Amino acid sequence: MGGPPGFYDYIIMAAPDLETAISRLRDLIEGARTIVPFTGAGISTECGIPDFRSPGGLWTKNQPIPFDAFVASAEMRDEAWRRRFVMEESFAKAKPGRGHRALTSLYRAGKVPALVTQNIDNLHQVSGFAPDDVVELHGNTTYAVCLECDQRYELSWVKQKFEAADQHAPECACGGYIKTATVSFGQSMPAAAMQRAEQLTRSCDLFLAIGSSLVVWPAAGFPLMAKRSGAALVIINREPTEFDDLADLVVHHDIGDVLGPFIAN
Ligand SMILES: [Zn+2]
Repeated sequence: MGGPPGFYDYIIMAAPDLETAISRLRDLIEGARTIVPFTGAGISTECGIPDFRSPGGLWTKNQPIPFDAFVASAEMRDEAWRRRFVMEESFAKAKPGRGHRALTSLYRAGKVPALVTQNIDNLHQVSGFAPDDVVELHGNTTYAVCLECDQRYELSWVKQKFEAADQHAPECACGGYIKTATVSFGQSMPAAAMQRAEQLTRSCDLFLAIGSSLVVWPAAGFPLMAKRSGAALVIINREPTEFDDLADLVVHHDIGDVLGPFIAN
C-alpha cells in the first residue's frame, strides 16, 4: 500500500482500535446538528434477539414463508403463527442493549429527530423512542394486524384463539387474515416508511449505519443517498460491508462496546 501507516489509516478511515474509534465518533457526533441512525440486526444481538439471516439462524433452518404462500394457504398461516409463538420467549425476554440506550440518549439530547430500522423487535420504542420516531422498514413483530381492515391485534389474543382452535390461525371479524405487523418476503414495502426514511437520510449531516450488513434492499441504498446529500457516513458493524470505502469512519467492533460510552446517565 506504500506510505507511512498513518497515511494508510487516513485513506481507509477504518479506526485502528476501539479507543480511537470512540474518539473519532465523539468528534463527529459533537460536530453534527442532525444525526440519523440506521439500525440492523447487529444492534439487537446482545439483547438475545436472533439474527435470522446469520449462519445457524432461524432462516437457515426454516425457509421464511413468503407473503403469497401465507395468503394462499391456511396451513401456511397456521405454520407462520406456530413459528412465531416458538420465538415469543426470545422476543418477550429481550431488553434494549447498549446501542439502543446510546441512541436514545442522543434522541433525548435533541440530536436525533428519528431513526430508521430494519429490525422488527420493538426495542428502540422500549428504550424510549416515541413510536412515531421509529421508521420501521420491515414492520414490527410484537403485534399483529388484519391484512384487510388494518385492525390491530395483540399477540396474546392471537395465541389464545390459536390454542383454543387446536393450533389454527384466527381470522378477523371482517374475514381478513391476521398476520404479524412485519413485512414478509414478497410483501410490498411500506410506502410511507420508505418515504420518511429517504427524507430523514437526505436531511441529516451525520448518518450512522449500525449493525446492518447493508446488503438487503432497501438498506443498501441509504448510505449512498446520505453521502450524496452531503452527510458524513459512519459504519459500525462487526463484519465489513460493501460501503466501507465510502464511509468517513468504519468501526468493526462490538456495537455495544462502541456505543456504550455514549449512554447518558
Ligand atoms: Zn379485518
